[in-house]
Amino acid sequence: MKVPVLYIVIPCYNEQEVLPVTSGMFLEKLQSLIGKGRIAPESRVVFVNDGSKDNTWSIIQDLAAKEEHFEGICLSRNRGHQNALLGGLMTVKDRCDITISIDCDGQDDINAMDEMVEAYWDGCDVVYGVRSKRDTDTFFKRFTAEGFYKLMNWMGAQVVFNHADYRLMSSRALKEFANFKEVNIFLRGMVPLVGFKSTSVYYERAERIAGESHYPLKKMLALAFDGITSLSVKPIRLITGFGALVSLLSFIAVIWAVVQALLGNTVAGWASTTSIVCFMGGIQLLCLGVIGEYIGKIYMETKHRPRYIIGETTFDGKEGE
Ligand code: UDP
Ligand code: MG
Repeated sequence: MKVPVLYIVIPCYNEQEVLPVTSGMFLEKLQSLIGKGRIAPESRVVFVNDGSKDNTWSIIQDLAAKEEHFEGICLSRNRGHQNALLGGLMTVKDRCDITISIDCDGQDDINAMDEMVEAYWDGCDVVYGVRSKRDTDTFFKRFTAEGFYKLMNWMGAQVVFNHADYRLMSSRALKEFANFKEVNIFLRGMVPLVGFKSTSVYYERAERIAGESHYPLKKMLALAFDGITSLSVKPIRLITGFGALVSLLSFIAVIWAVVQALLGNTVAGWASTTSIVCFMGGIQLLCLGVIGEYIGKIYMETKHRPRYIIGETTFDGKEGE
């Protein structure tokens, strides 16, 4: 088997404190893998600047100028982690044999990369990095993050438990993945749909080296909701089921009301009537909201807008090297 060219793809958003530290770690890992002959010397570390407002892009440009193993891609504006990662992967997919995507904050153990590359040598096209423990996360982060995976699976979006976006993908898998044209993307839920032989590699998640998380609870809930509505129609089914249940209960209540009326025990039911009206109003709005969410997604999909726009790259002018 040919020694594969590896591109490590790293989305970065406002990471000026972190990059100078972690870039060295990524380079070291890349060089050690090259040294062991497990990846080709043309392998690269590619940073994707997701419209950062700080000096992230100039740091990346400096890195790329000083060290040939570093490259940079700059998106035209901030598009969020998922789009930035997709933009990076799609840009490099024809230059390499394998990609590993990882966050730039040093939280994911880079030593898991050795095992990922070995799994590729063993014939896997996709290797998921899975967190074995979350000891370093705060209780709140751990609780919300685990709740996130449970909710996702319960709602019909199959995701690998405790796997974020630290994964190896071969260019063969990426080329197939390029045919997934949706704009509402949730990579960790979509990659398993590509198929091919896959496996998981376990690692412990560390604390962020510097800076702050860009995924507070609000963004995480948004990601979960996006994931569910992008991958599954289960919420709509639940609503249908719930609607059927409420209709059945209402039907029973109507019979009961008629019987009571016939028996002459007319209920002086202002309170109960009002509560039922309110309850039904609430439920209906909720259901309409969920359906609206899907319609909104259809609307966005029909526009076929680009999912990311690349402003510039450090590859420019280096084509065909
Ligand atoms: N990120 C990005 N665009 C954004 C937000 C985050 O590219 O709009 C990157 C960020 O630089 C990091 C990764 O996505 O490399 C994960 O973000 P973060 O570490 O803040 O999330 P957490 O690990 O806390 O879930
Ligand atoms: Mg992080």
